[in-house]
Amino acid sequence: MPEGDTIFRAARALHRALAGNVVTEFESVFPALTRVADDHPIVGRTIESVAARGKHLLMTFSGDLILHTHMRMNGTWHLYPAGAPWRRPARDMRVMVATSDAVAVGFNVPIAELLTPRQLARHKALQALGPDLLSDPQTFDRGEAVRRMRARERDAIGDVLLDQRVVAGIGNVLKSEILFIAGVDPFTPVARLDEAALERLVDTARDQLAANVMDRKQTLVPTIGRRTTRSMNPEAKLWVYGRSGKPCRRCGAIIQAMKTGLDARLTYWCPDCQT
Ligand SMILES: [Zn+2]
Repeated sequence: MPEGDTIFRAARALHRALAGNVVTEFESVFPALTRVADDHPIVGRTIESVAARGKHLLMTFSGDLILHTHMRMNGTWHLYPAGAPWRRPARDMRVMVATSDAVAVGFNVPIAELLTPRQLARHKALQALGPDLLSDPQTFDRGEAVRRMRARERDAIGDVLLDQRVVAGIGNVLKSEILFIAGVDPFTPVARLDEAALERLVDTARDQLAANVMDRKQTLVPTIGRRTTRSMNPEAKLWVYGRSGKPCRRCGAIIQAMKTGLDARLTYWCPDCQT
């Protein structure tokens, strides 16, 4: 599952390339979306903005129409100069928006729909989102994030961090990394964590997401690997994710991995550093 910072960077790159430009071509393979686009043509509208909300991407067109997409596990947006070859097969295209200069292609995007502002305001998944970890310090409500974590007191903190209704933006890689950095065992029930520990997790998550937004170049293709360790060694980008059976970079203990949750995603942790 892509992390919130990946979607944030995608939105920013798409916004810079597309905002203020007129749509010259629009395609989609979703019948419901295509039907709306037939009745309310997208071609000829101006792209006003592209923005991320958690892991949702919203492309707003003039005339009150919004393209809402969600990447789930495998969806991705690519941005190409007009006429450039795509790096994914055309059969993976789910939605495509072109201007005279650029082409944005949503490959394997599982959710794509056109909404009015009114429908957007009532959208269940979007309305349920917890505080967005990538929002500005002025607007981010850490107290609310901690309250939403508290409300899930019997659940393991690892599962709670992934729930976008608690806080929006954490995917599976960052979940393991954040818990390592904060020194928290992923299977600890929220009830056993004090206020300071929950605040530290939220702050760590915000730092990690923000660092990945700042670091990267403004391109969507190719994607560059995530980094949480601040190590200059390209082989040492992550603390625990994907490292089961290898020694902990901090203490040398063997990194553990276990499948958890409904979709059996792997959780990685150091049994000595995370207690
Ligand atoms: Zn360790």
